[in-house]
Parts: sequence; C-alpha cells; structure tokens
Amino acid sequence: AIENQKELFGHPLGLYILFFTELWERFSYYGMRALFTLFLVAETTSDNPGFGWTNEEALALYGWYTMLVYVSSIPGGWVADKLLGQKKTVMLGGILLCIGHSVLAFDSEISFYIGCLFIILGVGGLKPNISSMVGGLYKQGDERRDLGFYIFYMGINIGGFLAPILCGILAQKYGWHYGFGLAAIGMFLGQVVYIWGQKHLKHVGNLISRKNEADKAILDKPLTSIEKDRIKVLLLSFLLIILFWAAFEQAGGLMNLYAQQKTDRTIFGMTIPASVFQSVNSFFIITLATVVGRFWYKWKQKGNEASSIFKMAVGIIIMALGFGFMSAASVQFEETGSSAMYWLILAYLFHTIGELCASPVSLSFITKLAPLKYASIIMGLYWAATGFGNKIAGLIGESAQSLGDFEVFTGILVIWSLIGVVVILLLKPLKRLTHGAEDATMEEG
Ligand code: GLN
Repeated sequence: AIENQKELFGHPLGLYILFFTELWERFSYYGMRALFTLFLVAETTSDNPGFGWTNEEALALYGWYTMLVYVSSIPGGWVADKLLGQKKTVMLGGILLCIGHSVLAFDSEISFYIGCLFIILGVGGLKPNISSMVGGLYKQGDERRDLGFYIFYMGINIGGFLAPILCGILAQKYGWHYGFGLAAIGMFLGQVVYIWGQKHLKHVGNLISRKNEADKAILDKPLTSIEKDRIKVLLLSFLLIILFWAAFEQAGGLMNLYAQQKTDRTIFGMTIPASVFQSVNSFFIITLATVVGRFWYKWKQKGNEASSIFKMAVGIIIMALGFGFMSAASVQFEETGSSAMYWLILAYLFHTIGELCASPVSLSFITKLAPLKYASIIMGLYWAATGFGNKIAGLIGESAQSLGDFEVFTGILVIWSLIGVVVILLLKPLKRLTHGAEDATMEEG
C-alpha cells in the first residue's frame, strides 16, 4: 500500500521505475522526432536517401503525426479509466512503441507509415498514464509530490538530451534507419525497466471500480457556479497551451530544417548534424530548471504576482522573444547565404526559459481547477491541447515556405508577445474566475 512503499533517496522506489521507463520512452520519441523531417526531405538519390519530399510536405506530415501522437492520449486515458487501469495501459503502450520504433527502422515507405501509426497509439497509451501514475505514488497533500514530478521531468529531458545526439550521429554516419533503430533500442530498455519494476508499482495505476454508490452520488451532482467559472478559466488555459506549443514546436519542424539547410554547422573543421540541435532544449531544461524555479520562488516571497496564468503568459512572451533570434538568423542568411549556429542556440535558450515558466504550472493548474467529475476528461484534453498546438506548429512551418522565414519568425515574435501582454492585462478578471483555487490558505470559493 501507499503507506509502506519502499523508498530510495526519500522517494518511493516506484518513482525511479517510472523515471527510467519515461526516460527511455522519451529517448525513443525525441530520437525519432529529431530525424523525422530531415529524413523526409533527404534526396532519394543521396548516399543516405530519404523520401525526397519538399519542406512543405514534410512539415505537413510532421504536423499531423505529432498532433495525433498527443491527441491519442484521449483514447489512451479512456482505456486506462474504463478497461485496464493506468499501469496495464502503460504496459500496452510500451509494447506498441517497441513495435512502432522497430518497424520504423526498416527501409521502406509502407513500414514508415505503419511505424508511425504504432507510435501514435503507443504514446497515447503510455505518456498520459505514466504521468498520472507519478501523482499516484504520493498521498493527497504529500509535500514531496512536486519534487517527484520535478525528478520525473528531469528523466524526460535526459532522454530528450541524449537521443537527438546519439540517433543523429548514427543517422548521419551509417544511415537514417540506424538512427531510428537506436530509438527502438531505447524503447526496449524502457520496457524492460517497466516490466522488471512491476513489483514496486503494485499499489498504483490499478483499475478503480466506479460502481461505488457513494462516489456516484458525488459525481452526479450538477456543477456549481464556482465550478462553471473554473471551467471557463480552464478552457482559456487550454488555449494558452495550444498557442504555446504552436510556436514552441517549430523546434522539430521548421527550425530543424532551418538548421539542416540554412545554418553553418561547422566547428573545428567538423560538421555538426542538424539533429543534434534538437538536444539544446533538454540541455537547458536540465541546467536551468532550478534557476528558474528559484527565481519564481523568490519573486513570490517578495509579494509579487505569481499565479499560474501569469506565469503562462510570461512564458509565452519569453518564448516569443526567442523567435527574434530566428528573425536575425534569417536576415543573416539573406545577406550572406548562411546563418550562424548561435542564433539557434539563443532561440532555444529563450524557448526553454519560456517552457520552464509555462509548462510545469499549466499541468498543476489544471489538476487544481478541474471539477472531480471531469478530472480524467480534462486531463485528456490537456494532452490533446498539446497535440493541437503541434498541428498548428506544422501549419505555421508550412506557411513559411511561401511567406518566407523572416516573415514567419517575426510574425510569431510579435503576435505571441502581444497575446502574452493581453493575458497579463486581463489577469484580474481571469483570476476572479478561479475563485481562489490557487490560494491554499483561502476557503474553497
Ligand atoms: N518535453 C515535454 C515532454 O516530452 C513536453 C511535452 C509536451 O507537452 N509537448 O514531456
């Protein structure tokens, strides 16, 4: 039971099982994502042939694919809720991912699509449910829960850091399918950890019978006006989440192609594979997470505004400013025919600081505001919102092929900054709609 679970370094052993499982799952996902568009646009006649698609075609598929990867959290959550429980759904998702990434390592067009399909279903089963299981390791009100999620988030980014470098170098040196193959090996490791660690997860992620009449009575009550207000703010926060990822996810798409096609990547006579730049975000997450966390902590202690919506808006603005460096890069490209690497690094630095402001708080904000009745639907919608963001990111990337890089990067800079500012201006009425959900000392409502 949750009371007598074994611990290591002050956290339940189960956390480390989930940590390593998700580390390897993200290793496989981000390894694949780093190669995805680059592979699609690689010439069919080159030594290391891809599909020879145009940028526009590649970004269109990237948008659909990464959207579905996250939207499939809705069926994934449903299966966990109604049929299997979270723990078994993660297991099933992991199996689908092992198959998907392995199939992707084969060199044919049909296997490519089949692999993607399995990955979509696999992430939907694994990603949302493993995240919820982390919460399930801690009792309500356990102070260690936030730290638990923080540790888990580090695992995600260790995977996200290593994979684009290792898969990218293999893909460039030996061929794309070796890169995809390494992603598959990562996923197998994750699955082995998860299977081995089942003994430490006995008490979490099991299917809960919802037939209990007392629970049902609670759940059948109509929503109060406070709950209705909170749903309104929730919907707005979903919109912010969509907008955030719509800009941020240029990373694996347009910016990945930009690194490949328009950036001078030589250093000390060596050429860095474009996919390696996909590691920069995770590198900065790992190195800056505590700095940003400490900043907000001190900021709040001084009595400043520190609501989740405020942090999300600030995150969007900082991320938007990162696109200013991409505008500068495209000016340099127009003038000299190639742009320097540091523009990409600076852009990713700002994107990461933005992510560190916006992303962790958005998840906890949602769990605080969702009426119990809709808790799992709203969790599914959270991941789906990320998915819609990815789709819009693809569309924006596609539009850059006709509008021009400078126009699109500058457009994101201006429009997204304005959105952030408008949200900050509307903060007071928005916070009123939360009815103190974020204020621990205030009575409900
Ligand atoms: N890097 C995070 C992860 O992979 C962000 C995912 C997302 O919400 N798009 O978990």
